[in-house]
Amino acid sequence: MDGLMQDRPLLISSLIEHAATFHADTEIVSRLPEGQTRRSTWSELRDHAKQVANAMAELGVTAGDRVGTLAWNSDRHLAMYYGVSGVGAVLHTINPRLFPEQIGYIVNHAEDRALFFDTTFAPLVERLAPQLDTVESFVVMTDRAGMPEIDVPNLLCWDDLVGVQSTQLAWPEFDERSASSLCYTSGTTGNPKGVLYAHRSTVLHALMELSRDTFDIHSGSTLLMVVPMFHANAWGTPYAAAMTGAKLVLPGPHLDGESVYDLMRRERVTFAACVPTVWTMLFAYLDEHPEIDAHEVGLQLAGVGGAALSQSMLERLERDFGATALQGWGMTETSPIGVIGRLLPKHAGLPREEQTAVKLKQGRGVWGVDLKIVDEDGRVLPWDGKAFGHLHVRGPWIASGYFKGEGGDQLDSEGFFPTGDVATIDADGYVHLVDRAKDVIKSGGEWISSIDLENAAMAHPTVGEAAVIGVPHPKWDERPLLLVVPRPGQRIDREELLADLAGTVAKWWLPDDVVVVDELPHTATGKLLKTALRDQYRDHTLPRITAGPDSGAPSRPAGSGPPA
Ligand code: ADP
Repeated sequence: MDGLMQDRPLLISSLIEHAATFHADTEIVSRLPEGQTRRSTWSELRDHAKQVANAMAELGVTAGDRVGTLAWNSDRHLAMYYGVSGVGAVLHTINPRLFPEQIGYIVNHAEDRALFFDTTFAPLVERLAPQLDTVESFVVMTDRAGMPEIDVPNLLCWDDLVGVQSTQLAWPEFDERSASSLCYTSGTTGNPKGVLYAHRSTVLHALMELSRDTFDIHSGSTLLMVVPMFHANAWGTPYAAAMTGAKLVLPGPHLDGESVYDLMRRERVTFAACVPTVWTMLFAYLDEHPEIDAHEVGLQLAGVGGAALSQSMLERLERDFGATALQGWGMTETSPIGVIGRLLPKHAGLPREEQTAVKLKQGRGVWGVDLKIVDEDGRVLPWDGKAFGHLHVRGPWIASGYFKGEGGDQLDSEGFFPTGDVATIDADGYVHLVDRAKDVIKSGGEWISSIDLENAAMAHPTVGEAAVIGVPHPKWDERPLLLVVPRPGQRIDREELLADLAGTVAKWWLPDDVVVVDELPHTATGKLLKTALRDQYRDHTLPRITAGPDSGAPSRPAGSGPPA
């Protein structure tokens, strides 16, 4: 028997309509690439989005067509989020930090019909344009005065194309399963692969983010969206903000510590969503300005994801800002939220260190995401906080495969997506990410977590950033090599650092060598580029006498065994 409820499709256009109707005057603050700040409202954003939608018709873009953006977080980009998807076309947000050849590849692979870009990317677009086979129009997201002088065919100015359109439009209704946006994974190996989101998945994912147990986004929130709109839809926060009419603050390309802090303070940000590298830049700025008391911001929630939250970062977020540090885990393929690290009521009375230990786990599954860990043969492993396994996830906002079938079938026999991450899950359902399967260090048949070692190293006051990779070893297969970047003005003493680590990790986990470097390579999404490090240090000679798993070292830490 069917229920008798109205079968209304879950469409992205409903979010902007809600925001404009019920939160018309709530502000959207946007710092433009050119430096000035523009203030608008949800009501104006809806008008703007409808102008984009009408511009799509003028460009001949119809339902299902892909439209690329090379753009920072701005109100214009936000108008495209709603205007392009709202008419059933697919917004393809391109990560400008990819290599130019990869950008060319994905624009062609996506078959983008139009490419919208910020002035910052004009030289890049000029260079790539001859190779972009399907792009019919190139639109610079600026006013007439800001138009760059570049040699690109069919070059249009935002104000001439979008600014002149009518703000009248009835959003079309269509199947909620229709594609809404497209985002390519950064592809540290092989070509990037496209993750194709749907209206339904996007709306459900946004709804999940409103819960107090997740991001707690509500009409009283002021959300600083530092996480890029070209990276997994900025964690879905642009949609969740519209769903509740939260105030949005968009930093454009200005992600240095001073700019981010200034925006936080001026706009009284309550929730900032950033990858760890941005928080690190912010703390470097605060270190240079001890006169600043960051409590003045009134930040309540500091969201960290994309890479592990270290203990030192958690403590600084809580101490300097008085905010709750909230870790999330996910990936482009999971829209991206899979788990969120909130405490449970039973943790409320625990001493601070014990609460911290819980928060350093990546978090518990949110409604809508089924989790499991499996061994090499696909056997399900127990949730005891000890067994390591490959993390598989399933749910209405998890990818079922890649655009155009790249990479073939992805799902296991139960319809779960293998994430490529290795994790433990404890009895409360907290996932602790051990490593990416390809980064875990396999030493004498046991596994060493590079993430845990990096966090332990970063807890040392002289260490700014740390990377741990496995290097080949004749006896143990691999041993850990620690690469460290000193904090500004600090000198790292190798022996002292190793002695410090010996107090926190098992003896046989201790890195065999420590190399001090000026900087570490990162991927286009700001993660450590370990493939490059492994290539560079493949032949590195290890000086230490290795304490391997059978060397009489103290017993292994809990959860350090490989899958059975
Ligand atoms: P990429 O395109 O580089 O894969 P993603 O954002 O999709 O970019 O990366 C997802 C990966 O980032 C996850 O599979 C995981 O390895 C890592 N990651 C995400 N969040 C966390 C976290 N909180 N702690 C540790 N690693 C994380």
